[in-house]
Amino acid sequence: MDYQGILDQIKNKIDCRQLSGEVATYIPELAKVSPDKFGMHLCSTSGDDFFFGDSNEGFSVQSISKVLSLSLALLYEDDKLWERVDVEPSGDPFNSLVQLEYENGIPRNPLINSGALVVCDTLISNLKDPKKEYLEFVIKVAGNPHISYNEKVAESEKANGFNNAAMVNLMKSYGNIHNDVDTVLDFYFHTCSVSMSCKELANTFMIYANHGCLQETGEQVLSVKRTKRINALMQTCGFYDEAGEFSFRVGLPGKSGVGGGIVAIYPNMYSVAVWSPKLNAKGNSTAGMLALEFLTDMTGSSIF
Ligand code: GLU
Repeated sequence: MDYQGILDQIKNKIDCRQLSGEVATYIPELAKVSPDKFGMHLCSTSGDDFFFGDSNEGFSVQSISKVLSLSLALLYEDDKLWERVDVEPSGDPFNSLVQLEYENGIPRNPLINSGALVVCDTLISNLKDPKKEYLEFVIKVAGNPHISYNEKVAESEKANGFNNAAMVNLMKSYGNIHNDVDTVLDFYFHTCSVSMSCKELANTFMIYANHGCLQETGEQVLSVKRTKRINALMQTCGFYDEAGEFSFRVGLPGKSGVGGGIVAIYPNMYSVAVWSPKLNAKGNSTAGMLALEFLTDMTGSSIF
């Protein structure tokens, strides 16, 4: 497959300046990013890399981190986690409080904010130094010691994270948060603040294309069964209330973040990350969704 030729065509077909969408502003630090950034990186399981544009520039992964925190939490909690978080698509915005109230503080899934906050709570219970150990896990999966938190982004979100604070408090009132509310929020904001480029994200997500094994060493970090389940959750819950639309148009398991990144995997074949900060009304990167739609249309490589 001529992936580089296809990526070059995608780059030429998409003019980010012409597309609608707004850079996220509710986290002030994210509003400083240029709306015209656009990059894409694809890693194949055969070890080749294809890319264009700003694919080497770091950006805030935001909700994409939820896949990694879930992966780490499952190593400690296993099926116990599913007593506190469900596995159904929410059909509601990523930060919705409504569903949480009438479902008694049990989040719909681990890839929306409420679910990720419970996942963070379990990590705080299980780890001695959650921030340090979470980053060590990400570095291991990424095969890259340079990945780190962006403290400015974490602080910026902490100063404005009233909605997330409301969610943690509501879940605490239902007994579904076991640790101190501020500790959970601080850890969650740090996980979201991790900065990665498209290249680094695509490399990191190779583990989900490789049935839980690291591309470089072959080490089985996540079991085949867990990886299957995580991929299923990305497929059904990875795009807020637009998961159906992403399945329909792209047809790959993936996860987006309000930093404008999207990562998607095609099992046994590739992992691909795209970044363009202008978001559509549902919070997904406009150019990112289009680029991935072109990719699966042009390669015929959707899982469906
Ligand atoms: N840190 C962001 C928040 O909690 C993540 C949202 C996202 O990327 O979907 O609002």
